[in-house]
Amino acid sequence: MLIDLDNFKDVNDDIGHSGGDELLTVLADRLRRRVRPQDTLARLGGDEFALLLEGSDVDTGALVGHLLDDIREPVRLGSRELHLTASIGSAHTGGEESLQADELLRNADLAMYAVKRAGRNGSAVFDPSMYATVLYEAQQRADLEEALLDEQFTVHYQPVVDLATARLTGVEALVRWNHPREGLLGPGNFIHHAEISGLIVPLGQWVLRQACRQLADWQRSIPAAGDLRMNVNLSARQFQHPGLLDDVTAAIRDAGIAPESLTLEITESMLMDDVDAAVGMLTALRGLGVHLAIDDFGTGYSSLSYLQRLPVDTLKIDRSFVEHVDTSSDSSALAGAVVDLARALGLRTVAEGIETPAQRDTLRQLGCRSGQGFLFSKPVPADRLSAMLRDETPARVPA
Ligand code: C2E
Ligand code: MG
Ligand code: MG
Repeated sequence: MLIDLDNFKDVNDDIGHSGGDELLTVLADRLRRRVRPQDTLARLGGDEFALLLEGSDVDTGALVGHLLDDIREPVRLGSRELHLTASIGSAHTGGEESLQADELLRNADLAMYAVKRAGRNGSAVFDPSMYATVLYEAQQRADLEEALLDEQFTVHYQPVVDLATARLTGVEALVRWNHPREGLLGPGNFIHHAEISGLIVPLGQWVLRQACRQLADWQRSIPAAGDLRMNVNLSARQFQHPGLLDDVTAAIRDAGIAPESLTLEITESMLMDDVDAAVGMLTALRGLGVHLAIDDFGTGYSSLSYLQRLPVDTLKIDRSFVEHVDTSSDSSALAGAVVDLARALGLRTVAEGIETPAQRDTLRQLGCRSGQGFLFSKPVPADRLSAMLRDETPARVPA
């Protein structure tokens, strides 16, 4: 059995190393009290423990439940009360004497990893399909790495328009993967893998540079695009990456665009983990002159008091509120509340996913100034967007 504490690194950062050591001692004692004298309990390193149970007379399911409960029991350290959870993976020899210790450990490790991926704080028993998952992820990672080197990614741009005039005021950069076998893939097919493998950091950086260069090109070569704005999505990993400020600075400088013409989109969930750190990062980004937007607003759990502290410029109203805005009074009340909230905080609103003239009209009546959606245009390749900008018929303006 492998027992790994969840988010121990954060706790350690929080209470300091000697506090962390003390905490480990307390938890180790609890584990020791739970196991039989003939069992072997070991600390493998850091916050990871291994437990070897010999014989077939153990109810592992019940034991795992007790161990998880023991760890969840709050720990008092000085004046503080700490709450921890663990992820436990177990594997059996299944009577196969030939199974080597390292194989047994690796199987337990795969099971533990499955718990971590499923959201931690729980347990799993090894099953051979876990190999397939790990192999699949390794393959995805290798494919993504190759795609980055090979420039198989491309950026599409979706217009952001002024709802009153349909004038194209900005675009959102949305990444696509030109997959050699599977054709053009949307981010839903690969962003998650890029995120768990960490490749989202170089990929996001590539998108950012590409988008800034493209914006510079449009602003210079197309008169109607002089004040065009660019929106770029940031992932959680990118947002936590210490190099983000330098990357943004370099992308803006190398492209030669005004920082004010770039808006970075982040989601509520990225901000809520550690509000102080998020406020620090947002303030630093804003110090560069870029604008900030909260994407998919309304789907997370931002508390209003936090929202007030966040130095952002724009709320993007999530498509789920826009979808029924013209037919459901609940949806329109919620969308209207977001617009009013934004106004009270001095923020702009952009409605996402507008598909019908009725949705557009309702949102306008609610006081929302900008929007994007298939009604105006789907995300399109750069050359298609160039044509829209040149024609100055930026977006379709249905009656
Ligand atoms: P998002 O940032 O909220 O982007 C809007 C998504 O809604 C896009 O999906 C867009 O194609 C879709 N959409 C726009 N208008 C409509 C509409 O009228 N109806 C419907 N049904 N959908 C509409 P897409 O391109 O598949 O992107 C999905 C998500 O992937 C994005 O959501 C964003 O969170 C993420 N993403 C895209 N590009 C990047 C990137 O470069 N970096 C990161 N970290 N995430 C990205
Ligand atoms: Mg977005
Ligand atoms: Mg969105």
